Amino acid sequence: QDELRIAVGAMEMNDKTVSNVMTKIDDVFMLPDTTILSTKTVAEILRMGYTRIPVYSGSRNDVVSLLFVKDLALLNPDGNFTIQTVCNYHQHPLRFVMEDTPLRVMLDEFKKGEYHLAMVQRVITEGDADPRYELVGVVTLEDIVEEILQAE
Ligand code: ATP
Ligand code: ATP
Repeated sequence: QDELRIAVGAMEMNDKTVSNVMTKIDDVFMLPDTTILSTKTVAEILRMGYTRIPVYSGSRNDVVSLLFVKDLALLNPDGNFTIQTVCNYHQHPLRFVMEDTPLRVMLDEFKKGEYHLAMVQRVITEGDADPRYELVGVVTLEDIVEEILQAE
């Protein structure tokens, strides 16, 4: 019964965190900020089918902006624009959450409507070294809704 499954899913949501439903970082389609947006590159981006693409500077652990596919619609493909140029122009907000954020909290955050994808990170503490952040995935509203609908 669908109603039962959804009710159970909603209840189970209370025990889960962002890390249980996120897309893991190795599976995230992201691009370096230096990428030149040629016709070929834009075609590749469209083929991937994602609406939002994390953009990194140097290493994949350093995500610095979000590219929205809709930003590419009016772009001159002969302009040799880099992703960095397009991102600086649009400045879509980039949000980070900790992997142990409860799903309920994340859902309430998405419901405010200011953003629909967050970068998920964890804190690494090794010995005396300063704690550092490591990116572990992305989470979207869709991931939480799936969790609610798919419970068994
Ligand atoms: P929308 O549905 O708003 O057009 P979308 O299809 O790109 O956007 P979502 O529907 O929000 O993305 O999410 C679908 C799934 O894809 C989720 O599991 C999400 O974690 C994952 N996802 C979103 N963006 C990326 C990306 N750039 N790389 C890999 N996975 C992603
Ligand atoms: P989502 O699917 O995540 O809700 P959306 O398509 O609804 O994305 P918004 O949430 O309205 O987009 O916008 C996200 C950010 O992009 C906001 O900072 C907004 O000001 C900016 N933005 C939206 N549309 C444009 C546009 N046409 N050109 C430039 N910036 C835009």
